[in-house]
Amino acid sequence: MKGRKVEKHDIVIVGGGSGGIAIASSLLKRQKNLNITIIEPSDKHLYQPAWTLVGAGEFKQENTVRPMADCIPENVSWIRAAVTSFDPEKNHVTLDDGRIIEYANLIVSPGLQLNWKAITGLEETLGKNGVTSNYRYDLAPYTWEMVKSLRQGRAIFTQPPMPIKCAGAPQKAMYLSCSEWENKGLLSGIEVEMHNAGGVLFGVADFVPALMEYVRRYKAKLNFNSTLVRVDGPARKAWFNVKDADGNINEVEKSFDMLHVVPPQSAPDFIKQSPLANADGWLEVNQTTLQHVRYANIFGVGDVVSAPNAKTVAAARQQVVIVARNLLAQRSNTPLPAEYNGYGACPLTVEKGKIVLAEFGYGGKLLPTFPLDPLVPRYLGWVLKKTILPWVYWNLMLKGREWLAKPG
Ligand SMILES: Cc1cc2nc3c(=O)[nH]c(=O)nc-3n(C[C@H](O)[C@H](O)[C@H](O)COP(=O)(O)OP(=O)(O)OC[C@H]3O[C@@H](n4cnc5c(N)ncnc54)[C@H](O)[C@@H]3O)c2cc1C
Repeated sequence: MKGRKVEKHDIVIVGGGSGGIAIASSLLKRQKNLNITIIEPSDKHLYQPAWTLVGAGEFKQENTVRPMADCIPENVSWIRAAVTSFDPEKNHVTLDDGRIIEYANLIVSPGLQLNWKAITGLEETLGKNGVTSNYRYDLAPYTWEMVKSLRQGRAIFTQPPMPIKCAGAPQKAMYLSCSEWENKGLLSGIEVEMHNAGGVLFGVADFVPALMEYVRRYKAKLNFNSTLVRVDGPARKAWFNVKDADGNINEVEKSFDMLHVVPPQSAPDFIKQSPLANADGWLEVNQTTLQHVRYANIFGVGDVVSAPNAKTVAAARQQVVIVARNLLAQRSNTPLPAEYNGYGACPLTVEKGKIVLAEFGYGGKLLPTFPLDPLVPRYLGWVLKKTILPWVYWNLMLKGREWLAKPG
């Protein structure tokens, strides 16, 4: 790196996704003269939570994307490149075009990595042969196509090992598909299976009874400790590693007519390989302050952080308030004032028109926003997910207006 010019910046944000744009706006709301730079390679900003609804024919795909240039706040500079490595001792990041950027403060928010290649044969058949996923912008409409066209046969929904973003999304795809088939009177002719690499239906036990009612209603067969490892699209076959009670693994072959896959997920490679990672590869932050545990001038927001919260936009919405307050305190050498309670939310779309609004913090503590029993499926949750939250996202969260975002 000797001899290469170093560009100096003040506050640098890695990633212009949900967390990155929101933290830039939240900081500027507090101090409008801050000098902020976002490093982001993509020219599109994606609202991923609505892809579940796109896959159910309930939301327009094109309403989940906006030009990145329209989302980056005024007075924030945008470097259109990807970060490839970190040198936190020198306060440097290196970009894929070779440039070196120096920062006073760094906020790391590049989301997580979808590991499609970890399942043999998957990538080449995505979007055809009945194989789909709501985890990609371009594929969510294909889920809906499959749901609409399937009249009988076997539909399989898969869930990889945790952690993943929006842990409820694999089963949300199943419930909404079943709801459509039920409404059309087709459900009795469709065999529905969920293959879950983990051992529980949902990580917060309080919500499981309400979900199990829908599993019974839709007659979905739950297979736990069953991990998708291989797909042959043209043959419409999938293979699962199934772990028995003694820990033995057997490969099981299944034929399918529709296969909804959620890919294995991890921290992005460039984070895993950096001095900022913990042993599992995630950005190692203090789970209460969201400050990096080794580098006081670095903070994290969103899916990349090591904190054991549910990886959701809902979590990022509260994290940005914590990080905005704590980062400004760190810059003025005062104690960090804000504490994150692990809030995250997963609106579980159990049927068309009803949602179990799972809101919880660290340790599975229930943190409902509304004074209603959170374990009951409601139409209100549906309105919230389909209409109110997308509006809140584009018009409030990304603009630094912190509604539904005050730390608990
Ligand atoms: C199907 C689905 C359903 C979901 N449902 C919900 C829901 O109901 N409720 C909810 O709250 N959340 C939901 N989520 C989760 C939510 O979308 C994520 O948790 C959220 O977007 C995380 O924000 P983030 O900023 O960490 O990452 P992202 O929004 O993914 O943004 C990361 C950004 O970093 C950029 N980047 C990547 N690598 C680099 C690099 N090397 N250098 C610079 N920039 C880089 C990317 O281009 C991207 O713009 C869902 C997600 C999916 C896929």
